[in-house]
Amino acid sequence: MKRVLVITGGSRGIGAATARLGAANGYAVCVNYRHNEAAALAVTEEITRGGGEAIAVAADVGSEADVVRLFEQVDEMLGPVTALVNNAGILETQMRVEHMDAARLSRVLTANVVGSFLCAREAIRRMSTRHGGRGGAIVNVSSIASRLGAPNEYVDYAAAKGAIDSFTVGLAKEVASEGIRVNAVRPGVIYTEIHASGGEPGRVERVKASVPMQRGGQADEVARAILWLLSDEASYSTGALLDVTGGR
Ligand code: NAP
Repeated sequence: MKRVLVITGGSRGIGAATARLGAANGYAVCVNYRHNEAAALAVTEEITRGGGEAIAVAADVGSEADVVRLFEQVDEMLGPVTALVNNAGILETQMRVEHMDAARLSRVLTANVVGSFLCAREAIRRMSTRHGGRGGAIVNVSSIASRLGAPNEYVDYAAAKGAIDSFTVGLAKEVASEGIRVNAVRPGVIYTEIHASGGEPGRVERVKASVPMQRGGQADEVARAILWLLSDEASYSTGALLDVTGGR
């Protein structure tokens, strides 16, 4: 069976590392992105240069129409999805809760939570034995913020990731008898560009002393955990939340 991996937000950071490693592990890869086409094409071109199969598809995971089109394009260009990584995520400028307005909360919850639900829905319609599919695996990219709460920075983002943890546990039980495993990784502080969107590009350097291993993590270190959870090596794991945090 051809293995087809869809990674939302696969153009940069943890998603891009997962796309490269997925291709190296034999998956045909769809790199989804929102705006940064050049970054997405750099990932797919690197994969195809190395002999792999990859496409880049622009879609905002918070838009239902975009998500439906994303999976239809994957059907046409690669074949039905067998593995989904719900990685696309955003955070906004650091602030306390009393300064957050409804527009911000809606953006954060839509991109992080609604997007993961919509993509999982499209994947389940194709993977579930209940719908004539042949099974598959989903990994949600949560955050250790769901346990720590991100006070004074982005409690809204932490709460969204808390929702992703509950989503992982519930969905895993819902589809466990239909050939689909659903797990999550919860990264700690990882060197990517996401911290700049919170207004603190050097955040990893500031907080790394609070990490028991005394360092930030690399995107590849998260990607390896994701690929393991997707693989048959994790055949009896579902509903698991795997912390990749250097002990935090
Ligand atoms: P990043 O470097 O900022 O990359 C974010 C990726 O998501 C980009 O490919 C971006 O696409 C895409 N994206 C954002 N919003 C999107 C949307 N609405 N629809 C489709 N794609 C969208 O982020 P990262 O640090 O790799 O984070 C990846 C995941 O890990 C996120 O879920 C994040 O919450 C989680 N995480 C990160 C850390 C960390 O320390 N870095 C820690 C814990 C959890 P464009 O390039 O087109 O903008």
